[in-house]
Amino acid sequence: MPPSRKQDKFTLISELAKRRGFFWPSFEIYGGVGGFVTYGPLGALLKKRIEDKFRDFFIRKFGFFEIESSVIMPGKVFEASGHVDHFKEPMVECLKCKRKFRADHLLEEFSGMPSMETEKLSLQEIKTKIKKDDIRCPDCGGEFGAPRHFLTMFTTTIGPYSDAVGYGRPEAAQGIFVEFKRLHELSRERLPFGVVQIGHALRNEISPRQGLIRLREFTIIDLEFFFDPENPDCPYIKDVENETLRLLLAETRLRNSEEIVEFTVKETLENGYIKVDWQAFFMVLAKKFMVSLGVPPEKQRFIEKLDWEKAHYAIQSFDQEVYLDRWGWTEVSGHAYRTDYDLKQHMKFSGEEMRIFKPTEKPVEKEAIQVKPIRSKIGPIFKNDAEKVIEALSKVDAKILEERLTRKGFYMLEGFKILPEYVEIKRQKIVEHGKRFIPHVVEPSFGSDRLVYVTLEYAYRVKKNRVVLSFPRDVAPIQMGIYPLVSRDGLPEKAKEVYYMLLDEGFYVEYDESGSIGRRYARADEIGVPLGITIDYQTLEDGTVTIRDRDSWKQVRNKVQMLPELLHKYFRYKLEFEELGEPVKT
Ligand code: AMP
Repeated sequence: MPPSRKQDKFTLISELAKRRGFFWPSFEIYGGVGGFVTYGPLGALLKKRIEDKFRDFFIRKFGFFEIESSVIMPGKVFEASGHVDHFKEPMVECLKCKRKFRADHLLEEFSGMPSMETEKLSLQEIKTKIKKDDIRCPDCGGEFGAPRHFLTMFTTTIGPYSDAVGYGRPEAAQGIFVEFKRLHELSRERLPFGVVQIGHALRNEISPRQGLIRLREFTIIDLEFFFDPENPDCPYIKDVENETLRLLLAETRLRNSEEIVEFTVKETLENGYIKVDWQAFFMVLAKKFMVSLGVPPEKQRFIEKLDWEKAHYAIQSFDQEVYLDRWGWTEVSGHAYRTDYDLKQHMKFSGEEMRIFKPTEKPVEKEAIQVKPIRSKIGPIFKNDAEKVIEALSKVDAKILEERLTRKGFYMLEGFKILPEYVEIKRQKIVEHGKRFIPHVVEPSFGSDRLVYVTLEYAYRVKKNRVVLSFPRDVAPIQMGIYPLVSRDGLPEKAKEVYYMLLDEGFYVEYDESGSIGRRYARADEIGVPLGITIDYQTLEDGTVTIRDRDSWKQVRNKVQMLPELLHKYFRYKLEFEELGEPVKT
């Protein structure tokens, strides 16, 4: 039987998170506002350490860039990116209590429709379904009004000008695309290269009620990887070709099946399930990253989005999902093949060149056709419109113009009838040394807050009726606790010496001398401190301390001066616990 909501992991973790200072709902003194959280001391550290681990996995080793751009961006950016038109959700309002709900979520909850069905519905279809199934407000039982689309970007004005519309960015990606030219220069004009941004994103979610999973302000990790579509090979694919991916493919979903197929990376690419090598590579990396945060492979899958579920910019898209106690399969990262969509749009809207130059091996000779307007003819005929005609001719496709003039004897250009005698068509041999093109993009995109929650849920264990957070040792917010066995006889003084020495080594350390040693170990286990270092009477005699493992509760003993080197190795996974010292019988 599934646990009731009262005791499921989400409830238990939310309670622990509040009590021990990982995170809690913001603005509680004013009654709270859904979708905002505050990270306390432990949560802020945990989040930072998870993000640092992301940097280790996805940035440092590949020499990618990390940048930081603004959260508020001018309207033009999101008109170009398509968000103003597409970043909308269907919403209904209760006519009685005025509460608003995501219409598709209501249908999923009360009509049992899968999200792949609800995402397809038009507003009219949603209205009909709500009426037919007599879905009413879950809060007061009132009837709903007509559904409408709600723009989920936060809108603002920039400066005191009401017409200078700005938006809170719903993704960090656009901050990278708009800076593409400069970033490409910084990459010494080479492709491929990757740029990451880890920063706050704002989405005015309609009714967020899932804690860290759905926030209105959250931290997004966007990696935009730019490559030449004519040269899409990934040099790292060889190293991972035998790794497996668990896929729920679009073709399977269309058969109304949830069957997961497991393929090696090599097979996935050979069978064309994933279009680009780099995307497959990032998906494997994402799988390993989640394993390193404590999620076993069988609790992960990649679900391919259907045509109507995909974001407007993607031609192929997979969501990496992780199984969670309360919500089942939940997205932790999206992997989208965005092609040249974004750069092309920004080139169109800004007028700036976003194409890059690619030299060809040998110069290529080509014939260029040029259109020269003959002013002495155009002027008297078009009079006031003559300049418009000349401007239009400067942009016309010369080949098409020439073909039409020859075949039909005229060409209609923006409503003006162009005759052969108005233009001179010149042919010229030119030598091309390369060509211009817009790079393509694949994007893995994670949400830090979901990573924090998932890490907590997968670390959560109960051992002998006590909660232990078995965090992977390299993300635990506190790495070790320093405990004098008793708070007298010089033990606290010695323990403080050890504490300051380890702080000086750059570790995250806590010092605790209150209560029995058992109570202190239990308190530390509950917040996932991997090691407990205890200073006892023997320490005063021979300079050794005990080191206790959070998960096995085993202990070893070693000299204080050995600690820095051993612990640095231990936290980089270069040593196991048993190698930290001589076993102690407990
Ligand atoms: P998306 O651009 O919608 O694919 O989002 C990218 C990632 O951001 C998702 O995989 C989630 O991990 C995270 N994310 C999206 N929306 C939210 C939200 N409202 N609250 C927290 N995390 C989110």
